[in-house]
Amino acid sequence: MPAANLPPVPTAVDSITATELRMHLEFLSSDELGGRYTLAPSFAIAARYLASHLKAYGFQGGGKDGDFLQRFEVIASRPDQEKSVLSLTINGQTANYSFGEFFPSGGVIGEATAPVIYVAHGISSPSQHHDDYANVDVKGKIVLLVPGVPAGVDRSKLDVKEQGEEAARLHGAVGVLQLPQERFLGFFRNKDTRNRLGSRETVRLARESEGHLPQVTLGVDVAEKVLGLLGFSLNDIYTTEKKPNPVNISAHIVTGFHQTRTVTQNVVGILKGSDPRLRDEFVVFSAHYDHLQTSPKGEIFHGADDDGSGTTAILTIAHAMAMDPPRRSVVIIFHAGEELGLLGSEYNTDYAPAVPLDKIVADFNIDMIGRSKPAGDKAREDEHLTDANTIYLVVSNRISKELHQISEETNTEFQKLHLDYYYNDSNNPEMIYYRSDHWNYAKHGIPVIFYFAGTHVDYHKPTDTVDKIDFPKMTQITRLVFETGWRVASLDHALARSTN
Ligand SMILES: [Zn+2]
Repeated sequence: MPAANLPPVPTAVDSITATELRMHLEFLSSDELGGRYTLAPSFAIAARYLASHLKAYGFQGGGKDGDFLQRFEVIASRPDQEKSVLSLTINGQTANYSFGEFFPSGGVIGEATAPVIYVAHGISSPSQHHDDYANVDVKGKIVLLVPGVPAGVDRSKLDVKEQGEEAARLHGAVGVLQLPQERFLGFFRNKDTRNRLGSRETVRLARESEGHLPQVTLGVDVAEKVLGLLGFSLNDIYTTEKKPNPVNISAHIVTGFHQTRTVTQNVVGILKGSDPRLRDEFVVFSAHYDHLQTSPKGEIFHGADDDGSGTTAILTIAHAMAMDPPRRSVVIIFHAGEELGLLGSEYNTDYAPAVPLDKIVADFNIDMIGRSKPAGDKAREDEHLTDANTIYLVVSNRISKELHQISEETNTEFQKLHLDYYYNDSNNPEMIYYRSDHWNYAKHGIPVIFYFAGTHVDYHKPTDTVDKIDFPKMTQITRLVFETGWRVASLDHALARSTN
């Protein structure tokens, strides 16, 4: 499609300035906000700040009863060492293991005693013609599961019900023994990191926590022992497709957790579109406003770049949108709980969407656009940090090629940034495709662009501070998102969902 057919971009884009971005970001990354951890009381102050601005710009609340806060409950679970049990009975001999040799995982309090059955990766996907449950009867049994996906299966197209604990439960299993993830094997081999990994708190949506199976992750030694009997080893298990030896193993598992419930909130505002015929369709602009917990030593994780940068960018986009609304309605959403596992976006897509998902034309998600690599920087952690003129775009062409074209043409016309597609591959080892909130929209088939400038030496450290932000670059990226998004929201037709 030639650029001439694209809607003109309004001058409201000029309202997005480094000064306004800096003002918001200095507040959001301040010591007083304490790092915006989803479960911290001060997190609600950040929410209120964002909601107040959206209201002042003329947005309506997108939560329940017109509230700007879309509230939801989460459960934090920390393994309870005393209450957790793993014993294995192999050929009539029972051995009990202690916490550290195994870890309760998944945050589900429960108990199961049953024969163990090996199900490889435990994937059951009719659309991808792969079924690890095809010739095994797991009813009433505890499945032994290898994490990850085998060659030939596209992880990005798997439904949650086609893998892991959910697939096991749907096939009638009563518990899950999980092998350690390949990328965490190093951690599992070291006692200190193993115990830290196995004891850490996990948080999930309260809505999602009901009716799930008790799960246990095996440590390296127990895993090697069980795998040895089956004829495998931890070295080959992640790739092998062989059949296991028939062995009689049964397990007794008890998964204990200390749990606390907290109500938190996304912030959602809706700006009515200017065209009465198109305003029941929506274009979403999103960023996560949460970051990390203050350390026991009192170190604050300011999260200026992650994702203070995206949050402030989206707020200035909201302001500019309100000055000259596009034809479709605009949804601004600041997600909570991203750092805890994309919880806010999971809630707004899988459980209680603020607007119907089938009316969302696209989602523009921003996470970490504030940094650029200084000349001569040789730090290993900065290897993939973009320079002052570059930004990574992820997913733009995976669901809608038209979105990709509009994005490219709009950039060529205005900001002339270098658009880098290095991470636009669902098999990229860093799996950026799955690592921010856009994933929860993309998995529902919604066309998405994810804007990301790369991780760096201060990523998830107290030193991710506002003084290191490249505001001129951030201004350019924010304007590009506005320009692209405004055009998509004002097109005659909804974006074509086609990749060719
Ligand atoms: Zn982030």
